[in-house]
Amino acid sequence: MESPELTFSLAYISLSLCFVFTPNEFRSAGLTVQNLFSSWLGSEDVGFTQYHVRRTSITVLVHSALPLGYYMGMCIAAPEKNLCYIHQVSDSWRAFLFLSLCLQLASWMLVIYWSCSHWHNHPISRTLQAHVQPPHSSWGSVAANINDEFRRIDKFATGAPGARVIVTDSWVLKVTTYHVYMALQNDCHVTVTESRQHQLSPDLAAPAQILTLRVDSINPVVKPFDIRLNSTEYAELREKLHAPIRNSANVVIHQTISELFLETFKAQVDLNQVYTLPSGQDLEPCIGCMQVPANTKLVRLCQAEGADNESECQQCFCRPMWCLSCLGRWFASRQDQQRPETWLSSRVPCPTCRAKFCILDICAVH
Ligand SMILES: [Zn+2]
Ligand SMILES: [Zn+2]
Ligand SMILES: [Zn+2]
Repeated sequence: MESPELTFSLAYISLSLCFVFTPNEFRSAGLTVQNLFSSWLGSEDVGFTQYHVRRTSITVLVHSALPLGYYMGMCIAAPEKNLCYIHQVSDSWRAFLFLSLCLQLASWMLVIYWSCSHWHNHPISRTLQAHVQPPHSSWGSVAANINDEFRRIDKFATGAPGARVIVTDSWVLKVTTYHVYMALQNDCHVTVTESRQHQLSPDLAAPAQILTLRVDSINPVVKPFDIRLNSTEYAELREKLHAPIRNSANVVIHQTISELFLETFKAQVDLNQVYTLPSGQDLEPCIGCMQVPANTKLVRLCQAEGADNESECQQCFCRPMWCLSCLGRWFASRQDQQRPETWLSSRVPCPTCRAKFCILDICAVH
């Protein structure tokens, strides 16, 4: 009896969440505010600032209509509640309807307020007004400058559509669902504040390090904001960004896939069995880097796991000669560089005797 109502509620709530946070599946199906209202929004390339003023306003209106949409859907999904007749509705539903209407009304009032005198009050216009300084005489001219630089093909652009980062010749921009953050490159300094490592895993095509950078402006009206990017894009960002970048948290930035892979590689080897050195044998320095003791030994272990399918790995009889970092770099260098998702599961030859081994066969020496 309860089920159509419950089904509708669950479906509506999950669809609404997907609509607001737009996962990739939704985006490719075209179910985004940008897509649904594209004819009214115009082109981002033609007028970047105007486009985002319109886009953020319509987003506020559409998102705030979702609770009201739920109520109207409920009228049909649960006819026994008589939701269509206001005077027969239970108190809690009446309160919900009232709040939904208030939310919708408030968002309309907000957008109408924003739109007064050519969108003068819109948050994006206000940010533009904060940047009026020579050579720009008005915020219209600042907007024209951003539009112009956004059209250039050499801009740096990255990030998910909900938090895009764009660096043009003189601007750092961050486009979010409800706002566009702006900072003039000449006014800002950038600080690397955090790094998150995502290790190579079956559902991730490549290992990733996500850097968080805070953009502070000396302009007191411009609030600081965070931008996020993949560490492999860091070099490209540095090329475009003339502002100084401080690395306050001593974040080690891995700029290549191989460096990133090393973290995953080490974590994986930590899970393997350890190899105890026979008594009387000493660890020699690693012959790759000569900096640290050779602390890895290849032992054919992988076969023990899947006894029925014959493994292609071979037993290596070399004494420990390489450190874990050097072995990891060797392992990464022998892979298909275009397909990092295959790296963990493939076999490479031992750098000394050429016996094939896989990641399960690498033991740390103690
Ligand atoms: Zn080494
Ligand atoms: Zn060997
Ligand atoms: Zn193996």
